[in-house]
Amino acid sequence: MTIDVDEQWKLLIGGSWIDAGASYEIVDPSTMAVVGHAPEATAAHAADAARAARDALPGWRGLSMAERGAHLARLADALEARCHEWVDLVQAETGSTINITETMQVAGAFIDRFRYYSRPVDVNETVAPFRMTKTALGPAGLLGAYVLRQPVGVVACITPYNFPLVNVAGKIAPALMMGNTVVIKPAPQDPLGILRFGEVLDEILPPGVVNIVVGSGPEVGAALVESHDVNMISFTGSSPVGVRIVEAGARTMKRNLMELGGKGALIMTDDADVDAAIGGIASVWGFHSGQICTAPTRVICHRSIYDRTVSALAGIAGMLPVGDPLDRSTIVGPVITETHRDRVEAFIRSGTEAGATLVAGGERPDRPGFFVSPTLLADCTADMHVVREEAFGPVVVVLPHDGDDEAVAIANDSEYGLFSYVYAGDMSRAFDIAQRVESGNVALNGVQPHMEAPFGGFKMSGIGRDRGVWGLHAYSEVQAVNWPS
Ligand code: NAD
Repeated sequence: MTIDVDEQWKLLIGGSWIDAGASYEIVDPSTMAVVGHAPEATAAHAADAARAARDALPGWRGLSMAERGAHLARLADALEARCHEWVDLVQAETGSTINITETMQVAGAFIDRFRYYSRPVDVNETVAPFRMTKTALGPAGLLGAYVLRQPVGVVACITPYNFPLVNVAGKIAPALMMGNTVVIKPAPQDPLGILRFGEVLDEILPPGVVNIVVGSGPEVGAALVESHDVNMISFTGSSPVGVRIVEAGARTMKRNLMELGGKGALIMTDDADVDAAIGGIASVWGFHSGQICTAPTRVICHRSIYDRTVSALAGIAGMLPVGDPLDRSTIVGPVITETHRDRVEAFIRSGTEAGATLVAGGERPDRPGFFVSPTLLADCTADMHVVREEAFGPVVVVLPHDGDDEAVAIANDSEYGLFSYVYAGDMSRAFDIAQRVESGNVALNGVQPHMEAPFGGFKMSGIGRDRGVWGLHAYSEVQAVNWPS
């Protein structure tokens, strides 16, 4: 399907498509061509959307979980039938390769989340009877209690640019199933696929249950964080923005789910399977140009296999096809914007200036668009900016270690703790290391996440967990009801 650059995109508020009155350009990161004009909402639109979500709340939370689940199942069916039509649009605005777009941006987890959460689950619990002595409040006896999970209310879902539809689905599917209503504020860089998705939401859900506001700057998201009509912020994005949101939201006692930055440590012990590990590490370059919060970008490699690992990684980095994301042989596409490309380049320079060895990449590919070559920096030390901060680009740093204790110490010498990896020949040794790593998730001898295990970060990588039943818990308030028995 071709993209209509002149399409009039609107905001979804209370079941109506609202003309924002202004717009801004969305640019294809690989060609720099304009893909479309996104509606430029104001803080007043954000307030209207929050009010619409609040008005829709009694009706939606009044449905049974089975009824809400039936809506989600219908949504999953409609997406399955329709979303292949959006591949061109989402590919163009995100710049992700056509292979990644088809399998992971506009399918896969995006639809699976609705299907998964459409199944009703009993999230309530009973508490063991409590033996009371006689008090001024009542006679001696037994008290029973039931712990109910109630919806939090209106949830503002503020999301990053890397996987726009997947990020939004991971939030709104459990939030809706728990009986909350939602305002989506997608990332400014690539919101058009979300607006297309809004057309399906609008057909299937009652008006106001999901609302969408879009803006080029932080103002629209900030207005939702300040709103008295919003009870919870479910945010995925960078840690500094997460801090600003938690600070601002404290004034209205917002509930927070914070999924923030990461600097994934990958520990290789002396008995690690080097070939398996380098396959996992190379995913940093090939999987959406390293624009992944969980990517294993910080390799902590035992000195006995260090040279072999670095030279094998350099070989792979030099072979990966970089270029046109529409070419099916391309592995590394662009990063999202010119500003971000410049930031990643400055990040790499800071590494070489601090004494790291540039083993592969580092140069700007000779073609239009916002490309960064797959880059490998070796001989890094834990104090370097390139080791401490996330690049959110195709950049891997390697540090040597001399034993498991040192490897764990280096891994933990980080503000982040989102997703870490251990490659070890002996699984019990890998498990022992995993338990000592300060990280919300640890994968052993592989880089695949378990999509139903709890996901979230230690330290500056976030607050709270989602996925699986933890997703339903995240979007609920706990209410205890007790009675004499
Ligand atoms: P970002 O923090 O720049 O922006 C994220 C969202 O926050 C955008 O929608 C933006 O408009 C909004 N925003 C900015 N300022 C705001 C404010 N003051 N109030 C309210 N909203 C505001 O992140 P990004 O560049 O889009 O994404 C990259 C970052 O996201 C990386 O740090 C990456 O690690 C992180 N990320 C984390 C996860 C995770 O699950 N932990 C997943 C994907 C990306």
